[in-house]
Amino acid sequence: MAANSLDTDSVSALLKKHWNLDGAITTLNGERDLNFKIDGEGSYIFKVYQDSVEKRALLNLENRVLEHLKAPMIAASAMVPSLISNEENETLVSADGLLLRLLDWIDGPMWGEGDSHSAKDLQNLGRIIAQTDKSLASISLSADEVSLASRPFIWNMIQAPSLLGWSEKIEDSKIRQQVEKLISTDAATSLQALASLPRQLIHNDANEWNIVHGKDSLGIIDFGDLIHAPRIVGVAVASAYIAMRSDNPAIEISDLLRGYHSVSPLTSEELALLYDLMRVRIATSIANAALQSSIDPTNSYLNISQGLAPKALLRLSNNERNLWFYRFRNAIGLEGNPHSKEIRSYLLNRAQPKDVLGISLKSAKKVWIDWSVDAPELPRTTSEVEQVLKENSADVGIGRYCENRAVYASDSFDATAPSARTFHLGVDLWQSVGAPVHAPLAGVIELFNDNAVYLDYGPVVILRHETDQGHSFFTLYGHLAKKSLTLWQVGKRVEAGELIGWMGDESENVGWPPHLHFQLITDLCGMGIDIYGVAPRDEVSLWRSISPNPNLILRIAEGTDAHSRITGDSIERDRGSILSRNLSLNFSRPLHIVRGEGAYLYDEKGRAFLDMVNNVAHVGHCHPRVVEAGLRQMRTLNTNTRFLHQGITEYARSLISTLPDPLSVIFFVNSGSEANDLAIRLARAHSKRKSAIALRHGYHGHTEAVIEISPYKFLGKGGLGKASHIGVAELPDTYRGLYRGEGATYLYLKQLDEVISSLNGEVGAFFAESIVSTAGQIVLPDGYLASAFNAIRSSGGVCVSDEVQIGLGRVGDHFWGFELHSAIPDIVTMGKPLGNGHPLAAVATTPEIAASFNNGMEYFNTFGGNPVSAAIGQAVFDVVEDEGLQRNALRIGRYLQDGVRRLAKDHPIIGDVRGHGLFIGVELIHDLDTPATSEVADLMEFALTRGVMLSCDGPANNVLKIKPPMVITEKDVDLFLDVFEEWLVKR
Ligand code: PMP
Repeated sequence: MAANSLDTDSVSALLKKHWNLDGAITTLNGERDLNFKIDGEGSYIFKVYQDSVEKRALLNLENRVLEHLKAPMIAASAMVPSLISNEENETLVSADGLLLRLLDWIDGPMWGEGDSHSAKDLQNLGRIIAQTDKSLASISLSADEVSLASRPFIWNMIQAPSLLGWSEKIEDSKIRQQVEKLISTDAATSLQALASLPRQLIHNDANEWNIVHGKDSLGIIDFGDLIHAPRIVGVAVASAYIAMRSDNPAIEISDLLRGYHSVSPLTSEELALLYDLMRVRIATSIANAALQSSIDPTNSYLNISQGLAPKALLRLSNNERNLWFYRFRNAIGLEGNPHSKEIRSYLLNRAQPKDVLGISLKSAKKVWIDWSVDAPELPRTTSEVEQVLKENSADVGIGRYCENRAVYASDSFDATAPSARTFHLGVDLWQSVGAPVHAPLAGVIELFNDNAVYLDYGPVVILRHETDQGHSFFTLYGHLAKKSLTLWQVGKRVEAGELIGWMGDESENVGWPPHLHFQLITDLCGMGIDIYGVAPRDEVSLWRSISPNPNLILRIAEGTDAHSRITGDSIERDRGSILSRNLSLNFSRPLHIVRGEGAYLYDEKGRAFLDMVNNVAHVGHCHPRVVEAGLRQMRTLNTNTRFLHQGITEYARSLISTLPDPLSVIFFVNSGSEANDLAIRLARAHSKRKSAIALRHGYHGHTEAVIEISPYKFLGKGGLGKASHIGVAELPDTYRGLYRGEGATYLYLKQLDEVISSLNGEVGAFFAESIVSTAGQIVLPDGYLASAFNAIRSSGGVCVSDEVQIGLGRVGDHFWGFELHSAIPDIVTMGKPLGNGHPLAAVATTPEIAASFNNGMEYFNTFGGNPVSAAIGQAVFDVVEDEGLQRNALRIGRYLQDGVRRLAKDHPIIGDVRGHGLFIGVELIHDLDTPATSEVADLMEFALTRGVMLSCDGPANNVLKIKPPMVITEKDVDLFLDVFEEWLVKR
């Protein structure tokens, strides 16, 4: 039977015969094979091929790959189709000269059906391609399989030079020439370089019709183009399809790479080939279509993407190879231009530039002219700039580098687009018409022109220079007078200090007050005289590498970098590659917070959020007294604890005055983790034992030592489990814990005794919070802490109260949490609120324990207890006292708990309201054994849309964790209660 003559009746008969399957049959488009969609009880794809030895071998390999990707140890998180075997348990069936396969249908819209794709989508696509590649790399292949996957095949990019054999079939001569030049010249080196990269099986066809938005993740289908090749080839295939369809391929391909890199790190060597390989794939597509339509002009599948391919090939010019390479490097977190480092270092340390203007920028009187979007009245006209210079008796005005400007309003800068060019890449030097301009460094004239389009450069010249290592770089001088053109000649040598032009007036510099736009360029990126002088706002980090701050040459000591604010989206993209990916972000759409005041935070659009989360900003965000105290001390002196300073002892005295006797020795450190880390050392020194006990779900910080006593971490995701010298006491949660209700406290204490016994009755330290925050704001039951301390002490252990979250008056009734329980610890650790955001933390202990620790080894902490930290800590302490914030915590905390209890009457999802002062937990449940986890997540997202920022915690993440700045008012609480009620009613 011939596959191409198969009608639906025959398909139906084959399915019935071999799989006993009925269903509606739809014929699908395919390049080479016949594919049918079958809709019966389930949905399937039925694939029919002409039988041949090679086809059979290929399909067996393809089937092996699909099974490998489904294996539980391998399972890529991309969905791939499952093979459906027939009644004889075959997944490849031969029948009448045909080969048949049945696979399940991955349901969901195809990638190509969407017009645009979010950054998340593209990163996901990159991730699943990388995961698939990683899985495919682990298949061990026989020599036969390798040669099968390396057979002559049009879609194998390694064989791209063979395209030249039939490129004459491309009818459009311009496109044909482009394809031939690309394969034979432009991309030839990259194609050769493929030979030296390691090879593996790759899917090789991540086009928009082979990616499915499945229910839980993206799916990859159609493994018919599998080849044995370097993995960058597969990345190039996916990039090529994005380049053909996207309006913003630069950003979309960068996102794809970020995703890929996060799973399987890419190298700069691979990225150096990518732009060429992308273009080779597009050229292959064009050549293949020409070949196939010469054979069969009716194959409609081939026409689908052909209109786009030639256009994309023309758009992706050879000139831009470097720019794209830099862009790819930037996407994965490397500096864009790998030579920039050397050029900057030369200019910074070894070059001896002369003055660019006729005056010395070192001694000249300067005025900085702000042209940023934030400047309320920017001097835009010649007379306004003259006025500013005059008023300030300035010799020169300075306009900053990387200033975000709204002045670029002409057609060449589409101001509304996300990629609008608004970030200034030069430094502007304003003087008057005719002011002379000199070359600061020796070089040759590379290019010049009169860019006489409104708001362009007017007369502009670019000089080429070299570092002492022989790297070229460029300087650009824009907005000059027309008469400067007479000085220029391409290739002419220019000495350092030589006159190269004069500042032009508005008529010749095309619409600007007289100034020099001076720019440093590490690579012209094939853009020549049209090299960007203003960067796209979504690629600022890339352009900072290509065009670094020209103050490296000007050497203005006061600085010229505006560091204008980039968008939250750009920051998020950068974080993904250059910060560790286990730093998480809050909320489904991360917030870009730019300002804080009191109990409120403000995003970049000025939207206010009531902050119910931030116990660090204890006395309110940016409290003026705290800011002032820090500023004053920073202006005066900052040293360390090896000098006498009144601030440190006075502040230590302040803390001691709040603690019970005999807690009278203070250590200053920089974080809660460091405080607990030190507490472990103190306890070990005193008890002479390594062992420690902590509460289940408790957290005490992120250092190696404190992770060991943080069950929240070592028993959680990625945790290494409990170390043998650590005991875990059950969390005394009498509401939904292991033991509940009356008598539970006794059972928890009994269990603690068992843990002590399991450590042979020899405990070094016991760590607990009085309200266990990460466990979901669990208030320790009455009597627990005092009895636990007794038990620990009887076994020779030291008792540590972790007050990092709850200390400094937050619990309202008392200054410290342990005071709620009439228990006195041997060590108190403090952190978060102490510095109101400044990294300040402390440990308080007894003179005995301090003496045990003083064994001859010096304790020195570079930053801990420095005069600035002490001044800030003292100011926070004073504000708590002067503004009566502990009192406020008690009053407002009660008001909040009462309000939530009122809501709970009508809304049984509110299971428990607990806490003290402004450290409150609201637990949402369906019943005592069913936490309302997703509801809490939904509430948090909803509240955010209403301007209230919430957080949650607890083993099931079903407890609202309320711990706002202590300056919160009743009115603020009313807002929270209204939003909470609105959600309860609507949900
Ligand atoms: N202890 C507790 C109870 C904490 O909640 C935290 C931080 N969340 C720490 C210690 C560690 O503090 P830091 O993050 O300042 O190191």
